[in-house]
Amino acid sequence: VYVTGLTCLRCGTRYDWLGEAYLCPSCGPGPDPTDAGVLDVDYDYDAARGELLGAGGLASDRRDLFRFLPLLPVEQPGPVPPAGNTPLYEASRLGRRLGVSALHLKDEARNPTRALKDRATAIAVTRAKALGHEDIFCASAGNAAISLAGFSAFAGLRAHAFVPRDASAVRLNWLQRFGADVRRSEGDYDEAYEEAEGKRSDGWYSRNCAFNPFQVEGKKTAALEIGEQLGWKSPDLVVCAVGDACTLAAIGKGFRELTRLGLADRLPRLIGVQAAAVHPVADMFDSRHGREPLPVGGVTKAVSINVGKPRNARRLLTELEESGGLMLSVTDDQIAAAQTELARDAGVVAEFTSAAALAGLQALAERESVAGKSVALIITGGRPDDA
Ligand SMILES: [Zn+2]
Repeated sequence: VYVTGLTCLRCGTRYDWLGEAYLCPSCGPGPDPTDAGVLDVDYDYDAARGELLGAGGLASDRRDLFRFLPLLPVEQPGPVPPAGNTPLYEASRLGRRLGVSALHLKDEARNPTRALKDRATAIAVTRAKALGHEDIFCASAGNAAISLAGFSAFAGLRAHAFVPRDASAVRLNWLQRFGADVRRSEGDYDEAYEEAEGKRSDGWYSRNCAFNPFQVEGKKTAALEIGEQLGWKSPDLVVCAVGDACTLAAIGKGFRELTRLGLADRLPRLIGVQAAAVHPVADMFDSRHGREPLPVGGVTKAVSINVGKPRNARRLLTELEESGGLMLSVTDDQIAAAQTELARDAGVVAEFTSAAALAGLQALAERESVAGKSVALIITGGRPDDA
């Protein structure tokens, strides 16, 4: 393990690498749920580089996210199904119509439970098993919980899923199929999150991103893979739907690591996309740039990004500044149209939330020219029988 320590993104305190870690002991959850003492994992990059690289490329012959083991906070791969190694492919018909030079789709629906969340779950389950836990939990509107339930079924852990009141029947059915203990909140996702975190005192392992600093490390492998798949030439733009803000922040960290290792020439601009009904991260971004917040209200069908209290907002806002990126919000009608276009013009099985990325790229094209840009769209998930 090349981890050298953990740094609090809120107060900057640095801690030694310990077996189990959650929030910064000094900051804790804090008074504002969107500004907890989230920790970030640091590595000895020079040493990691030596193990990561072989003659003419990466040294590992693994075909899952543990290909990047020297950049992960685990000793060795745990008992998990193969997460990561998802295809990045060019959707040339759709790309031509948008006028970009290349539209690359990172199809995270090819993961074991059909979502990018599996990358974080692979790390959580690996660590939970190594630490001797038998119970593991998360709060989720669906994909993270389904991912945890599936990986727990594989590894022989008891999975506890804290779901919001409005979790869909299809998603609850998946949780039951995987044998998870489902705890349905009377409230929304944010309330389910609070209820879930209360269980940490029972010795259960938390898979909640943000509070568990190691989850982002799994998710960042999506960026590491994009780097390798594009021959270490970064795309101009990376576009992704944003809820809790963990995923795009993790992708930003991955690209920063590639530049630090000398494997990427530059950082892509990160474009985060939220729903017009719920866009707290876009508001935070606008407020930093002296702009008034946009109106909010109503409901969004993009359940995976229907998050009122984004717990990794600070992390993402920093990555957006580093990359010269920005936040956008799009209506459900725009997302629905984008979902149809992804199917009709590119044959993609994308869930509604994932399609927000394409809607966001189209919204960006109305603000500034995207002509000649290379773009990576993150298709965060899609089960064929899901919404
Ligand atoms: Zn702190």
